[in-house]
Amino acid sequence: MIDGFTRTCGVFGNPVEHTMSPAIHNFLAEQTGRNLVYIPCHVETGQLEAAIKGAFALNLLGANVTVPYKSDVISYLKEVDSLAAQIGAVNTLVRMEDGYKGYNTDMPGLYRAMGADGIGIEGERVLILGAGGVARAVAMLLTQKNAAEIVLLNRTVEKAQAIADEVNDSGGKRLARAISIADFDTLPADVKYLAIQATNVGMYPKTEACVIEEETFYRRIHTGYDLIFNPLQTKFMRLVEAQGGKAFNGLKMLLYQGIIAYELWTGCTVSEELARRTYGNMLAAMRERHKD
Ligand code: NAP
Repeated sequence: MIDGFTRTCGVFGNPVEHTMSPAIHNFLAEQTGRNLVYIPCHVETGQLEAAIKGAFALNLLGANVTVPYKSDVISYLKEVDSLAAQIGAVNTLVRMEDGYKGYNTDMPGLYRAMGADGIGIEGERVLILGAGGVARAVAMLLTQKNAAEIVLLNRTVEKAQAIADEVNDSGGKRLARAISIADFDTLPADVKYLAIQATNVGMYPKTEACVIEEETFYRRIHTGYDLIFNPLQTKFMRLVEAQGGKAFNGLKMLLYQGIIAYELWTGCTVSEELARRTYGNMLAAMRERHKD
């Protein structure tokens, strides 16, 4: 029940109409007995600063920030957590006395999701498909968690090279390299990789798209992790499985980035048992949305 003590959180983005985050936070609030409601906030182009100021003035406890504002929002914050500053993207705002502090829970969320799916990073040889904002953050996570090798494959190879250079400069060793997607066949054929799909190719409604179609690529993959969660089974995942690999989607990453944000807002700890039930609630919400 909403009453005079209800605290409000929300997600700021454009568009936000298809967000799954209310299915995470309103469920967690109900299950943990918090008087908290989570709402979508469509922020028009040019209105981000006004939205952040307005949220603070209206006493919002916290917010998530999504596409296209994860970098731009940094200018309007009082403080930025060191990991978020390093990644250059904020997806969670936490209220302080004089403004909001920005965090990035996407990467810790991905790490917790991979752990929950039984996937380790240390010592792994990893392929990243894509060189956008998320691919860059994934490359940093892999560096911190001691991957043995990182190969970034991108349509625009210069963008992948820039990330590889940044990773190698920060780590002081040649851990990362970049190749064009068109040159994937230059990868050694006898190595089995963990592959992280960090492009938006294959996302609903273009579900029959995939950045690489060739079977010879998928023979090199023991585990494929697609960061897309709509559809739940992407073409990339099907191609990985067809060659005997294990495949996962990005819904658990979304779950855990939300859980970490909720923990920051409320100070509570979400148990793995509650995380599993929240995941079930997200799946039900997705099925409800796509039942037609
Ligand atoms: P972005 O910055 O826009 O980067 C998009 C990437 O996709 C670029 O590398 C781009 O290549 C590549 N790409 C786009 N169209 C392509 C095509 N037709 N052929 C080949 N490559 C193509 O996006 P982002 O913010 O990094 O997000 C990437 C993905 O992460 C999205 O699908 C998003 O859903 C997912 N994500 C998931 C979660 C989660 O919680 N599960 C959270 C955040 C993001 P070029 O550089 O050549 O243009």
